[in-house]
Amino acid sequence: MDSDWRPERTASCPYCGEPFLLVVDTDGAEADYVEDCPVCCAPIEVAVRWPLGADEPELTLRRGDD
Ligand SMILES: [Zn+2]
Repeated sequence: MDSDWRPERTASCPYCGEPFLLVVDTDGAEADYVEDCPVCCAPIEVAVRWPLGADEPELTLRRGDD
């Protein structure tokens, strides 16, 4: 199967709510990492998951202080 998903996604910051461009930092694997919001600089926890059979990843953004 052709995997031509693009790593750039528009996401909303869980702190300030501003949309920003998130570059998915994974090479096809599941990953958890912290990305600083480009608007308010808060550390956003990013979880990358690949649902079974999916050809693009599912992203979850969380506040680190929840
Ligand atoms: Zn923010």
